[in-house]
Amino acid sequence: MGENSCLYKITKNDQLGRYIIAAKNIKQGQLILKENPVILCPQIGGCTICFNCCAQIKKVQFCSECAVAVLCSSECKGQFHTPQECSVIIKKTPIKREDLLTNPEIVTPFRYLLWRHFNKELFQAVLQLENHLELRRDSQIWRRTHINVENVLHELKMVDDADLKNEIVQKICAVLDINTFEVRQPQRNRSGFNPGENLRGLYLSAAMMAHDCVANVHLAVDDEFVLYVHAAVDIPEGAPILFNYANVLQGNEERQSQLKDGKYFFCSCSRCTDPTELGTEMSSLKCPRCHKGFIRPKSWQCSLCQRIYHSSLIKMTLAECRRRIDEIRSPDIRTLEKLLQKLSFTFHPHHYLILEVEQNLIGLYTQSPPETKNLRRKIEMCNKFLDIFRKIEPGISRIQAIGLYELHSAVVSLAERIYKSKETDKEGFMKMLLLAESTLKNSIKSLLYEPVKSPEGRLAQNALSELKMLRATISNFQSEEKKVEKKKSNKGNKKKK
Ligand SMILES: [Zn+2]
Ligand SMILES: [Zn+2]
Ligand SMILES: [Zn+2]
Ligand SMILES: [Zn+2]
Repeated sequence: MGENSCLYKITKNDQLGRYIIAAKNIKQGQLILKENPVILCPQIGGCTICFNCCAQIKKVQFCSECAVAVLCSSECKGQFHTPQECSVIIKKTPIKREDLLTNPEIVTPFRYLLWRHFNKELFQAVLQLENHLELRRDSQIWRRTHINVENVLHELKMVDDADLKNEIVQKICAVLDINTFEVRQPQRNRSGFNPGENLRGLYLSAAMMAHDCVANVHLAVDDEFVLYVHAAVDIPEGAPILFNYANVLQGNEERQSQLKDGKYFFCSCSRCTDPTELGTEMSSLKCPRCHKGFIRPKSWQCSLCQRIYHSSLIKMTLAECRRRIDEIRSPDIRTLEKLLQKLSFTFHPHHYLILEVEQNLIGLYTQSPPETKNLRRKIEMCNKFLDIFRKIEPGISRIQAIGLYELHSAVVSLAERIYKSKETDKEGFMKMLLLAESTLKNSIKSLLYEPVKSPEGRLAQNALSELKMLRATISNFQSEEKKVEKKKSNKGNKKKK
């Protein structure tokens, strides 16, 4: 953190517990924190990962020193399986490799418990994080933890009766569920490594950011799991630093149940308390009676004819449409466009289910031949998405950046195509290229906050070279235009003579 630690400070209240606020006025784009993870682990029930590099394991190998730590290869050294961890496993634990392999859910708590022998400070710091233990008590996840983790670690003598009384194992599992961020496994081309399944990363300072469905920070994790938090918008002194834990592309009720089940709190942010969801209408349905009004959460009352619909009816409608979307196994453009047409009778054009289908469509149009019709459709959808993104994820935003990138590429393709077919003249062609240029520039503005060593960072590099090429095309075209004009005016002059 170093020189930036002065940008935020920790504060406390009854509602949020400990959380961080801006210690001074923070400008859009400023780096608020940069942090290494203290724990990296799989999702509950997820894959087995290397103790050292966290890659997904295909062929299990073991550390040659402790013979317990699972590694992706015997040469994997020097990252998270530290010499201290290795020697504590040998000297202080009765654990055998089979114990970990047959009880994958104990691995992370087991490694955490090892800290008692060599990093008490960190052991305590993690325990201080929010755990909402009382809300979890006797829940399904509580019982699962009790059977799969607590009992097993007790039998293996990793925890004693005092630990059980202190509920150390329940606490650490709760801390992980509530405070970790989803991080990607980096794309490394090593045999036996399967990128894909996301991991969970615990970052001590970032864990203290409060949640809001409209974040004021931009979060990025690089290939080495370093987390960067930049201000997405200007943040005034004293304002909380807010991160969005929920999926920004879901509706109010879906986000809220995700937050309630996973993070144990009820969100009452500006988006959650607004039936129009900041004017996006992402949860709104069309009224089947008057066909003109919209029915919005949570009253589900038509904005025009005032009819109230029962929430169970809305739930059923959503479930039915969800089923229709999910039953499409290998989506193609025609099938999805047809489905969209059907959905459009029921939903506002900005409803999150419609957006979900359109997001898939944008991907399919990108892969399909660049026909004029396809490109125009892609541009139309990109513009609609960007209007919505600006409201739900304002400022520096990854989804905005990617949307802008897709929009620019469709505009360039369309410009080239219709200029070739003489559907537009030079002036129209140039107008479109200039539009694509400014769109790409806006995309890059956000992408530059992505760490260099990350997929988005690499997209930023591509985008920069594409911008260069696009500018070269534009200036070539413009100078050719000038030559032609000069010739014309020369001819004109000669005639005058
Ligand atoms: Zn490894
Ligand atoms: Zn070892
Ligand atoms: Zn919210
Ligand atoms: Zn109505």
